[in-house]
Amino acid sequence: MCFNFDRPLELDDNLPDIVRGDSGKLRQILVNLLDNAIKFTAEGEVYLQVTPDSEAGNSNIRFEVRDTGIGIAVDKQDLLFQSFTQIDSSNTRRYGGSGLGLAISKKLVLLMRGQLFVQSELGKGARFWFHIPLPVEADKEKADHFYRQARSLSGRMVAIPMPELSQKSCYALLAEDNPVNQYVVKAMLDKLGISVDVVSNGHEAILALARRRYDILLLDLQMPLLDGFETIRLVRSNTNANFNRTIPAIAVTADAFSETREACIQAGMNDCLVKPFRMHDLSSIVKKWLPEDIANN
Ligand code: ADP
Repeated sequence: MCFNFDRPLELDDNLPDIVRGDSGKLRQILVNLLDNAIKFTAEGEVYLQVTPDSEAGNSNIRFEVRDTGIGIAVDKQDLLFQSFTQIDSSNTRRYGGSGLGLAISKKLVLLMRGQLFVQSELGKGARFWFHIPLPVEADKEKADHFYRQARSLSGRMVAIPMPELSQKSCYALLAEDNPVNQYVVKAMLDKLGISVDVVSNGHEAILALARRRYDILLLDLQMPLLDGFETIRLVRSNTNANFNRTIPAIAVTADAFSETREACIQAGMNDCLVKPFRMHDLSSIVKKWLPEDIANN
C-alpha cells in the first residue's frame, strides 16, 4: 500500500475559527467517509478538504473526502445510501464492512440539515462531499475559550459540542453467542453512536452488569450456559447494590410468534426485536427504551 499523505487535510483560510454544531455527529460522518476512502484505496491519495460553502450560504461549511481508489460504477451509485448495501460482494470478502456506513452518514448529514453527494467512476476514485450549516459562534468569550482549547490540540477548526445538540454517551451491553450476529449488531450500534460491550452468554452478561453501569441490555434468547430468559430473571431479581436491575432489556430473537413475545415480557424483558432486523428497527427500539435524557439527544 502506498499513500501520498503530503496534503491529506486542507482547511481553507477563510474558515471561521469556531462554529456551533454537533461534533459527535460530524466526527462520525467524517470517520465513515474516511474509513471507506482508506479501505478502498490501495495506492495514491486520500484527502479531506474543508471550505466555507459560498454557494449554499455563509454559515455553511463543505467537507469533501476524496480518494484515488477503486471507484464506484455510476449505475450503482443510487444504491449506495441504502442500509446493508455493498456494491460488489467480492469487495465484502476482501475489505469487510457492514454496508451501513453511508446510510448512517446520509442520515446524520440530514439530521444536521445538510446534504451528502457522491461523484465517482469505476477505477477512478471517489469523491464524497456534504455541506452543513455550522453557524459561527457569536459568544466571544465562549469562542476564545474553545479556540484556546483547540489550538492546544493543534486543531484549526472545531465544532463545539453544544450541550443541547450533542449526543450524550450511551452504553449498551449485547449478549449474543453467534459471532456473525455479534459483529453485525455491534456495527449497527457503533454507527448509531452507541458504545457497546459484547459478551457471549447470560453468565458473562451478569458479570458485566455488576462491573459497570449500562443504559440498555440486548439479550439473545438462545445462548449457552444461561439463555436470555434465565438471564433476565436473574437480572430483575438481583439485589446487589451495584446492580441496575431495572435496566431496559430487549430480547433479540428469530422467533416472531406472539407467544414468544409474551414469554419475554413475562420473564422481565421490556421489548422484543425480531431478527433479521434493519437499522431503523434497532434504532427505534433502542430509542424507545433508553432513559429520556439520553434518547432525546
Ligand atoms: P461498508 O461498511 O461496507 O463500507 P458503506 O455503507 O460505508 O458500507 O459503503 C457501502 C459500499 O459502498 C461499500 O461496500 C463499497 O462497495 C462502496 N463504497 C463506499 N465508499 C467507497 C469508496 N470511497 N470507494 C469505493 N467504493 C466505496
